[in-house]
Amino acid sequence: MKTKMKPKNMKCPYCGKTAVLRKASYVYKDRALEEYLYVCSGYPECDSYVGVHAGTFKPKGSLANGDLRHKRIETHKLFDAIWKNGIFTRADAYRWIQDIFCLNDSQAHIGQFSEYRCDCLMNECRKVLTNHHVKVA
Ligand SMILES: [Zn+2]
Repeated sequence: MKTKMKPKNMKCPYCGKTAVLRKASYVYKDRALEEYLYVCSGYPECDSYVGVHAGTFKPKGSLANGDLRHKRIETHKLFDAIWKNGIFTRADAYRWIQDIFCLNDSQAHIGQFSEYRCDCLMNECRKVLTNHHVKVA
């Protein structure tokens, strides 16, 4: 547990300032679902942050602004629909992402994705879901 609890040095990709590990309530106020967030030190002028994996200080991906956070959530919904509907297993679905973008295991996470890559993955997910007659929004 000790090693997992070491905060990571991260920079904000938007303004270049250092990200600071903070209690999630700093951003979410009363609806803090996650324990900690890496928040841009320019927050709230720079609206950029990312959550951590439960019980660790390990970031879920890169810092993201509102648009990108929203896009990653939408992308995750479409992607999760693929394995939730049993088209691929969850593990195979992640391998499929790796194949599409030529990524390794640690890079193939929506939390690391840019808006452009989210768009590409959403298109690919829609194709797979449509081919398997799964209704998508
Ligand atoms: Zn920033």
